[in-house]
Amino acid sequence: MRRRGCSPLLAISGLALVSLLLTCFAACYLVPPDTCSCNVDEKRDFDTIENTYLPTNSHRLAVLVPFRDRFDELMIFAPYMNKYLRQQRINFDIYIVNQVDSFRFNRASLINVGFLQTRHNHDYIAMHDVDLLPLNPNLHYGYPKHGPFHVASPNLHPRYHYPTFVGGILLVNRDHFELVDGMSNKYWGWGLEDDEFYVRLKEAKLEVSRPINISTDQTNTFRHIHDRLHRKRDTAKCFNQREATKRRDRDTGLHNVEYTLASEQKLVIDGVSVTILNVQLSCDKSFTPWCECTQNTESKNVKKPIKGKS
Ligand code: UDP
Ligand code: MN
Repeated sequence: MRRRGCSPLLAISGLALVSLLLTCFAACYLVPPDTCSCNVDEKRDFDTIENTYLPTNSHRLAVLVPFRDRFDELMIFAPYMNKYLRQQRINFDIYIVNQVDSFRFNRASLINVGFLQTRHNHDYIAMHDVDLLPLNPNLHYGYPKHGPFHVASPNLHPRYHYPTFVGGILLVNRDHFELVDGMSNKYWGWGLEDDEFYVRLKEAKLEVSRPINISTDQTNTFRHIHDRLHRKRDTAKCFNQREATKRRDRDTGLHNVEYTLASEQKLVIDGVSVTILNVQLSCDKSFTPWCECTQNTESKNVKKPIKGKS
């Protein structure tokens, strides 16, 4: 039986019209927002679920977050950074390098461990404080080909303004991190490990570059979620720590960081998956006895409570 309907010619031109209209609609309404002025020029596929381009850039970033007891900050960090880096079309994974031993916090050793655990499938790292959020979308997290890229530049960081500062957020490619043998493992407690790393970079003649043409300043480029009374810095100095951590360390680094990976877990925060590396660091107490230190921390700066009041 012959079906009633339009002629084949009419049907074909109808189809052509519909597909033309669909193409126009896609071109007009599915263009992703331009939130970043970075130089990302590779061709990418369009992800219609996320309404953005999929990264096809071959580089892969491991965001290494040295971590202990900063859960509130992490709850904000993970969803925020996921959105921020997706908007920049970066291929990335977030690793929370969680120190589970009972020694003092050792940010640099945790970064070394994070690097060793991820270097097989990532070709650059971001050493990233959990409490520092980039607010300006133009801080580029792309592959740092020619040398480390210091995102948390001293002229933009809310707290640290000296010219050789490389803490907070620093991007380093795999070859360069290996070239300088990673970071020193001598720095237990707060401070100086980033300054020592700067000397390593300098000695290796690696030039640190920083964001340029940024219209924001030290007050509004980053959010630093850090109340110094709530999150006290462990500035105590025990044994000969002060002397022993003054100079460039030629004994320790990536090649001899001692640790056990106690476990690895996935944690999903607001739909964002992060990997928790539970790391047990080892300490040679004959070499760095200050990995344990019972002295009060920031005692000079903490106000004593008034007697009789809670
Ligand atoms: N950190 C942590 N637990 C600690 C101390 C430090 O997780 O007990 C991590 C955290 O990622 C933090 C970073 O180390 O952002 C740097 O420490 P902190 O914020 O005290 O240094 P700041 O740059 O504010 O002086
Ligand atoms: Mn901080």
